[in-house]
Amino acid sequence: MRRGQAIVLGAGVVGITTAWALAESGWRVSLLDARGVAQGTSLRNGGQLSYRYVAPLADAGVPLKALRWLLDPDGPLRWRPQADPVQWTWLGRFLALCNGADNRATAARLARLGQFSRVCLHDLMHGHGVQGFAWEQAGKLVLYRSAAALGRAAAAMDTSQECWDQAQCMAQEPALDQLGPKMAGGIYSEDEAVADCHAFCLSLMDKLQAHPNFMGLLLDTVQRLVPEGARVSVVGQRETYGADALVLAAGIASRSLALPLGLKLPLYPLKGYSLDLPIESEHVAPRASITDFERKVLYARIGSRLRVAAMVDLVGQTEAIDQRRLQSLLRVAQSDMPRAGDYARAQPWAGLRPATPSGAPIIGPSGVRGLWLNLGQGALGFTFAAGSAQLLASQMNGQETPEMLQGLSFSLESV
Ligand SMILES: Cc1cc2nc3c(=O)[nH]c(=O)nc-3n(C[C@H](O)[C@H](O)[C@H](O)COP(=O)(O)OP(=O)(O)OC[C@H]3O[C@@H](n4cnc5c(N)ncnc54)[C@H](O)[C@@H]3O)c2cc1C
Repeated sequence: MRRGQAIVLGAGVVGITTAWALAESGWRVSLLDARGVAQGTSLRNGGQLSYRYVAPLADAGVPLKALRWLLDPDGPLRWRPQADPVQWTWLGRFLALCNGADNRATAARLARLGQFSRVCLHDLMHGHGVQGFAWEQAGKLVLYRSAAALGRAAAAMDTSQECWDQAQCMAQEPALDQLGPKMAGGIYSEDEAVADCHAFCLSLMDKLQAHPNFMGLLLDTVQRLVPEGARVSVVGQRETYGADALVLAAGIASRSLALPLGLKLPLYPLKGYSLDLPIESEHVAPRASITDFERKVLYARIGSRLRVAAMVDLVGQTEAIDQRRLQSLLRVAQSDMPRAGDYARAQPWAGLRPATPSGAPIIGPSGVRGLWLNLGQGALGFTFAAGSAQLLASQMNGQETPEMLQGLSFSLESV
């Protein structure tokens, strides 16, 4: 079916999957990005397609844990208080959501979005030939330091998961010779996957380029969005662009772009770090992806490289690498997983998770005519991208919500 013309602002994993879903359903689509394909937070994230572990950060007990983390120099959390009302408003709302009931309600919604996203990603892979992004159902082992935490996790697992004690974890994963002895055990999920998010975006971009409804990738820095009757035009540094529909999928930059339109998006950048290191024949890298639950450090083998991802820093909107945080991550990874890869050739990276206080994304109309939102996927944007894109496309096409998501809302009002 022929529909109108759409511009998707942002060529990260959320924008590219959205452009594909719209092109497939008949929109003539352009993608617009200042830096090209997946050069923002989608560049070198943790690579986990974490369909089971979707519980949001806001939970009962987190404020107390956060105090402990802040006192630990190698802890997962940093907070630099700023004279920025956005930071304080976001934190206030986050703290209000730190309770079990809200956590469970959001986790249940996100679990369904995750399952739907898994189906949508598999459709892209097997129905449309999106390949070559080191996808592997490698399994996931989440490690717990205390028997009590392991017991709680075991009580919540389903029949397809396994609870391993310390000896089993170490026998299954020889890479755990240093980290394993600190752990009580872990929960193993066979059906979790890893992949290279950047390579996925490049592969989907190749398919888009060949799509008859794709009008092209425009390289320009958007300066502002201007409402004009029933549509919103986009003023870039080089040109002004107009279309029947504009989708804002610009990650954390979406907040400042939407503000002049009167839209206060509840987004804050949660900065994280990753290391990417080659795995040579002498290294002993983990087979499954490994999560150190208390320290919030992830290790994932992505093809012939090891990705180590960690840290949640509330320090404002800067991608600059803080050398103290980088050294801290290197120290932790080298001490816990010393033989897993070539640390001498580790490539460091930092990115900004576009996070809402509740952890749920915003997918749907903005309230401004012609402007749609697909943003706020936070710590799980790679995991949720394919499903979020289909959900937005169904709304833009005036279609029923996909069956797997019926009854759920990811609207601006619901975060
Ligand atoms: C350390 C770390 C580890 C992570 N690990 C995982 C993981 O294991 N699994 C998972 O699912 N998720 C993970 N994430 C989260 C995931 O990476 C993000 O949720 C996801 O990349 C967000 O994608 P996006 O498309 O919304 O944003 P981005 O990838 O940031 O894309 C936004 C795009 O908008 C463009 N843009 C911005 N402003 C403008 C402008 N003014 N004009 C033109 N273009 C503009 C940017 O150039 C960019 O390309 C991790 C994140 C971090 C930081």
